[in-house]
Amino acid sequence: MQFIETRGNDGQRSAKVNFSEAILNPMASFGGLYVPEHLPDLGLGFLEAHRDTDYKTLARDVLAAFELDIDAAVIDQALALYDGFDNPKAPVPVVRVMDDVWVSELYHGPTRAFKDMALQPFGVVLSDLAQKRGEHYLILAATSGDTGPATLETFKNRANVKVACLYPDGGTSDVQRLQMVTEDAANLKVIGIHGDFDDAQAALKNLLNSSTFREQLKAKQTMLSAANSVNFGRIIFQQIYHIHSYLELVRQGAIRIGDKVYLDVPSGNFGNALGGYYAMKMGLPVEKILIASNRNNVLTDWINTGRYDLRDRNVVGTTSPAMDILKSSNVERILFDLFGAERTRELMEQIDRDRCYALTGTELDALQTVFAADYCDDDEGKRYISEMFNRGYLMDPHTATCFKARATHADKPIPTIIYSTAEWTKFSPTIANALTGEQDSRDIDALKSIASEANLPIPARIQGLFDLPIAQGTVIDKADIERDVLAFL
Ligand SMILES: *Cc1c(COP(=O)(O)O)cnc(C)c1O
Repeated sequence: MQFIETRGNDGQRSAKVNFSEAILNPMASFGGLYVPEHLPDLGLGFLEAHRDTDYKTLARDVLAAFELDIDAAVIDQALALYDGFDNPKAPVPVVRVMDDVWVSELYHGPTRAFKDMALQPFGVVLSDLAQKRGEHYLILAATSGDTGPATLETFKNRANVKVACLYPDGGTSDVQRLQMVTEDAANLKVIGIHGDFDDAQAALKNLLNSSTFREQLKAKQTMLSAANSVNFGRIIFQQIYHIHSYLELVRQGAIRIGDKVYLDVPSGNFGNALGGYYAMKMGLPVEKILIASNRNNVLTDWINTGRYDLRDRNVVGTTSPAMDILKSSNVERILFDLFGAERTRELMEQIDRDRCYALTGTELDALQTVFAADYCDDDEGKRYISEMFNRGYLMDPHTATCFKARATHADKPIPTIIYSTAEWTKFSPTIANALTGEQDSRDIDALKSIASEANLPIPARIQGLFDLPIAQGTVIDKADIERDVLAFL
C-alpha cells in the first residue's frame, strides 16, 4: 500500500511513499498529511471471520489488509505491547452501562489514557525502522497532559530515538506531571516551562525554526519526526479498536453482524474519530459517528453548519483539557477523503489565511451523512459523571461529553458505543468534585476520596507515582529551551 498527500504533490517530494517513509517523515507537500491511497474493503466476511478472535489477531489481520512495508515479526513485536495492558486477553473491555449504551475502555495501558492504544505499538515500529536504516530520530513533543506521558513511555530506552518533551509547569494534573518527571532514561528529556500550553507549543515552533538548532541536528546526524496524530503511524492502530468494539457487541449478543451502531467519540485532534471513519469506510456497519466536544466547540459548529471558524475564538480551559483544541489536525484527512486534494488544499489555505472557511451545501450534506456533533460544558459533564456514578459506572470528564452528543443525536433504537479515553485516576479533582462537591483538591486527596466513594483501590501504578524519585527536574524559561535540548542531544 502506498500513501499519498492531502494537498497534492509539490513536484519535489515523491507523490507516493511507503508506510515507513510516511511515518518517519510525516510532513507532506504544501504542509499536507499522508493518507492511504485507498482503503481495504473488509466487508462483513471479515467481521464474520473475526467474530471470535482475540484483539491481537484482529489487529494483525486489519494491518495485513493495508499491506504495510513492515516485517510481520516487527508487527507482532509491536502488538505484543498490548500484553502489558491490565488484561492481556482483553486489552479493550467493552462495558454495558445502560440498556443501549456500551463504553469501550481505551485506557487500560501503562499511562491510563487512550494515547497508549496507538503509541505503544508505534514506538516499536518507529524505533525498528530507525535501527534498520541506521538513522537517528528526535521526537519533539509539546504536551498539555496525555501525549507526553504516552510518548515518553513508549520510547523509553528504545534505540535510535530520543524524545524531548515540553510541558507547561502547573498546566497539567499532578498525575500527568509525575508520569513525565519520574521517567528515568538516557534517551528522554522532559522540560517544564514557565508558561501555559500555548507557550510550550510556541517554544517548540521557535526551536524548529532556529538555524543553530537545525545545524546542530545535522551535525549530530539526527532527523526530526513526530509522534502526534498527524503521523499516520498512530492512526493505523486507531481503526482496530472500533472494529473490536463492534465485534464485542456481537459477542455479547446485543447485535448481529450487519446491524448498525452509533460510534460516539470525545474529540480533539480527531484521530480517534478518523479511525472510526476509516473503519466505517472499510465496511463496519455504522449509522453515524457522533463527535463530542467541550466548550471549545469548533468541531460542533463545523459539522452542524459547514463553517470552520477560528475568528473570535480563543482556547478556553475546561475540565476535559485533552480536548481543548481549536485547530484539529485530522479534519484535513476527512476533507481529503470527501472532497479530494485540490479542494483540501484550497480550504486549508483559506483557514491559514482567513481563519475561516465554509463548505458548500453539497459538501455539508456529505459531511452530515457520516457525522453528527454536539458539545458539553463542564457543569453538564459533571452531572453526567454523577448520574452515571449513581448507576454504578465511574468515568472521566472526557468520556462524559459523549453522553451529551448521544442525548442530542442517537435517535434510532440501536446501540451506542461511547469511547472512554481516560481512567478516573487522571482527572480526579473534577470527578471528586462531581461525586462529593469538594473543591480544588490536589490529585492525591481527590484520588483518596473517589476510591473511598467508589470502594475501589487506587491503582498501584498511580499510587506509586507519588513515591518515585523525580528524574527530570528541569523547569526553565522559554528562552533557555534551545540550550537545554542541545545539551541533551
Ligand atoms: C487525546 C485525547 C482525546 C482526543 O483525542 P483525538 O484523537 O485527539 O480527537 C480525548 N480524550 C483524552 C483523554 C485524550 O487524551
